[in-house]
Amino acid sequence: MSTNTSKIEGNDAFCLMPWLHLHVSTRGLCQACCIAPITFGDINKQTIGEIWNGVKINEFRSNLLSGKKDKRCRGCYDLEDSGVKSIRQETLEKYGYKINDIIQDDIVSKPVYLDIRFSNVCNFRCVTCWHGASSKWFEEAKATGTNVAKTAIIKAINKEDEFFQQLESIVSGVEEFYFAGGEPLVMDQHYRVLELLLKKEKKGVHLRYNTNLSLLDFKGKSVIEYWKQFHKVTVSASIDAAGELGEKIRRDSDWSTIKQNLKVIKSECPHVQLEIAPTISALNVAAITSLHKQLVEEGLIDIDSIYINMLSRPDQFHIKNVENKTHVIDQLRQHLGWLKTSEASTETIKKINEILVCIQSYQ
Ligand code: SF4
Repeated sequence: MSTNTSKIEGNDAFCLMPWLHLHVSTRGLCQACCIAPITFGDINKQTIGEIWNGVKINEFRSNLLSGKKDKRCRGCYDLEDSGVKSIRQETLEKYGYKINDIIQDDIVSKPVYLDIRFSNVCNFRCVTCWHGASSKWFEEAKATGTNVAKTAIIKAINKEDEFFQQLESIVSGVEEFYFAGGEPLVMDQHYRVLELLLKKEKKGVHLRYNTNLSLLDFKGKSVIEYWKQFHKVTVSASIDAAGELGEKIRRDSDWSTIKQNLKVIKSECPHVQLEIAPTISALNVAAITSLHKQLVEEGLIDIDSIYINMLSRPDQFHIKNVENKTHVIDQLRQHLGWLKTSEASTETIKKINEILVCIQSYQ
């Protein structure tokens, strides 16, 4: 980094997110990021500008600058303590070149990295999910009294046209747009954002997705045709296991369709960075190695194109509860051997090793 970072040297509380990132939850709350419940305002009561320059966000910024760790950021700090890279660290790596502008020169302009969770609309009912993140979970949640709203669909923004006007006023500075769900590819607002970016000639914005990859066409719109127009697209496919097990975990999914969609992306959009992003739980930890190997051997992903999410809730599916841990440990060791002989990166080997270490700690 060529910038002067003296203000943050040795400050391991510091996070760039509140200078860069606008996260809007499905409840319309503007928060520091998707993992910390640090709320700066309500998008249905304030404008983006009011929130971005508000008292709460500025307080948080000054605490971070003065090296005060916020307890609500423990999701990052705990990961770092266990040797795993956190979102805080990833953001510093990615946007570290901006530190000089935003801190040294004290410029707090507009968010550059957006993550707007427009709704919980989803076409799957994954067993590890809940109503807040999937509209399809509503009936089951209602039956057990765990629904978080009176309607299946929870929308973040009440006045969408007004919100999109605000978005239009800040979009010139946007460098990254992250879409997650619910399922972004079945959300009208996702396509509206893409239209806005194209209208404003922002084809250089990095589009990032977490998607279940169940479809590539929605209401007559082809996401492939949109992606062809953007220079940088990263697709993290939430796939937990191959075949029937995958369909059992990600209920309403169809393995052959998902594989076909991976093939279509590979052939029609070779510039898309495609990876799998399994959520590791007691349900699939024994199957993750075969999923990874199969997709690599079939040429659908590169060996290093895997992002691991460790499931933390619901507790019943935590990997500590997996039966036959010895068998899973053997499989993971074999997989590590395969990764090494296949020249996988040290980062990938580290990710698989982290699952191994985790399960060993519960033996
Ligand atoms: S330190 Fe982590 S949890 Fe806290 S705001 Fe930054 S990314 Fe979010």
